[in-house]
Amino acid sequence: MTRAPGSDAAVIFDLDGTLTTSELDFDAIRAEIGGIEGPILEALQALDESARLRAMAIVARHEEHAARSSRLNPDAREVLDALRAAGVPTAVLTRNSRASLRTVAALHALFFDAERTREDGETKPSPTPVLALCDALDVAPARTIVVGDYVFDLRAARGAGALAVLLRDEHNADFAPEADVVVERLTEVLPIVARLGSAPAPRPSTRRRSFRRGPRVADAGVDRGSPAPARTDRAPEECP
Ligand SMILES: [Mg+2]
Repeated sequence: MTRAPGSDAAVIFDLDGTLTTSELDFDAIRAEIGGIEGPILEALQALDESARLRAMAIVARHEEHAARSSRLNPDAREVLDALRAAGVPTAVLTRNSRASLRTVAALHALFFDAERTREDGETKPSPTPVLALCDALDVAPARTIVVGDYVFDLRAARGAGALAVLLRDEHNADFAPEADVVVERLTEVLPIVARLGSAPAPRPSTRRRSFRRGPRVADAGVDRGSPAPARTDRAPEECP
């Protein structure tokens, strides 16, 4: 892809609640599986193989239904088109299945330069998928913005040395202290990308792709604000 002069930033988007709105009913999924609580993917790891396979089929059915009825969030099209026009690579990082991502992408004509779903290994809040996407996009984590609506997005971003941007809504303000930047609309991501992409380049030793933590984003010209205190999770209801 041809990048605009001075722009070597990238943006990784969460899917549900960030680019789209879906109606996944996590309580219904847990009730149908039975005997689990908390984040579903983690809970399934404690099941034996046959129970886990049955549970994953339940999750997949709910996800597919939600994907087919998903709606594109306000500004998502405008922001994705603007980033593409500016030559800024984009990726999607979701704990959903690849099949449900494909359904959503086809429904809303979404295109990304890289994508990562739960079939690809570790999921958020691990920083590993963020680092893997930085690797795929050939962009330093310190040049990368992760936009999401849930605390797992923020933790994955900060663990990777990327900029954690919280898309705030009426439900997630408690997560703001773990974000580097809080936005109310997706369009607010565009000036952040412009600032990050035109900042002095990170040191050469950190530009390359290995899964190492890059320099703090503050080094690249974006003020991350005060260090965020650790917080207790609320009930995770925004991702499987
Ligand atoms: Mg989300």
